[in-house]
Amino acid sequence: MSAPEIRGWCPGALRPMASGDGLVARVRPRGGRLSAAQAAGLARAARAHGDGAIALSSRANLQLRGVTAQGHAALLADLAALDLLDADIGAEARRNIVVTPFWRHGDATPRLAAALAAALAKADAPETPTKFGFAVDDGPAPVLRAASADIRLERAVSGALMLRADGAATGCAVTEDAAPESALALARWWLDSGGAPQGRGRMAAHLERGARLPARFDDGSVAAALAARAPAPAPGPCPQGFLAGVAFGLMSADTLTALAQAGAGLRLTPWRMALIEGAHAAPDRPEIIAAPDDPRLAVSACVGAPGCAQALAPTLPLAAALAARVPPGARLHVSGCAKGCAHPGPAAFTLVAGRAGFALIRDGRADAEPSRMGLSSDALIAHPETLFGDG
Ligand code: SF4
Repeated sequence: MSAPEIRGWCPGALRPMASGDGLVARVRPRGGRLSAAQAAGLARAARAHGDGAIALSSRANLQLRGVTAQGHAALLADLAALDLLDADIGAEARRNIVVTPFWRHGDATPRLAAALAAALAKADAPETPTKFGFAVDDGPAPVLRAASADIRLERAVSGALMLRADGAATGCAVTEDAAPESALALARWWLDSGGAPQGRGRMAAHLERGARLPARFDDGSVAAALAARAPAPAPGPCPQGFLAGVAFGLMSADTLTALAQAGAGLRLTPWRMALIEGAHAAPDRPEIIAAPDDPRLAVSACVGAPGCAQALAPTLPLAAALAARVPPGARLHVSGCAKGCAHPGPAAFTLVAGRAGFALIRDGRADAEPSRMGLSSDALIAHPETLFGDG
């Protein structure tokens, strides 16, 4: 398999990334939430300045695809009018915050997210790499442990607010007022102690390499609450509204419009789902998953060709065709190259596009050694039993 290109940075709206279908502009809603008006406006902008395709990323952002170079300035004007634009590229890159969608009216969550964003927008905020991020996960039991983040605001076993470096079992107690500055101080420590040697790095890897957290961030006495024992969030009703899945994280502008019309606002999640505030049902759209037993939930797929310039074959038709045949409890990952963007971890079945067909990796990541090579997409669709067996 060909080695994928590692870019080491994430696109934003101010600094979009070139891809196979034009520019990709990533929009980071404040507090992980879009009002209904913002969501509808974003759908209009996706149609006007892009090709209308919108991706919901594993960092709970929306990516407008197929944006033209000529349309970029007008897109930025639209985003500014919707209050979806940062002051500059640095502030945009630093505001990498994933927020639990399960907060209720009066909870500290939106205040914490807003205060953290304001602190990160200051000129003296630490210049963390774009992949470095924060999680505001302050519900009774954390739900974002599997989401990418380096610094986490969670609840301690006692119920008190705590700050925890990703990769550490314990952290330090913080007040709501002090939490943003404490989080930034922890990010500064990470930078100053060599967390990003070549301008890249993550907190957990830094700790694994032997870095010792100062006692002011972790004196070993504040244990984090255990993660929710309930299964991972699934589409369906929840106390705050309705959790709607987006198949393979890709939707049309019309579907975003339908989601905007379905409730008071959208809370974006890192699970390729959007929580529609106050809704009792999800709109009936082809990409929307409303039931927890939808077979597409067992499949991860990246945009593939032609959307991604690095992709060596289309992925989405294969993923959609095979979804109903994935064995119970297994995950299928269809990747356009060995980078494995859609599912960084291992999967029971991973199909990776290559120059001579797909490679199959069993129980591994997209960059692992394949057990079979040269599988054709058409043959897999015609005979999925050759992949999954007859069961
Ligand atoms: S995994 Fe998919 S989206 Fe990521 S670089 Fe490869 S082809 Fe592109």
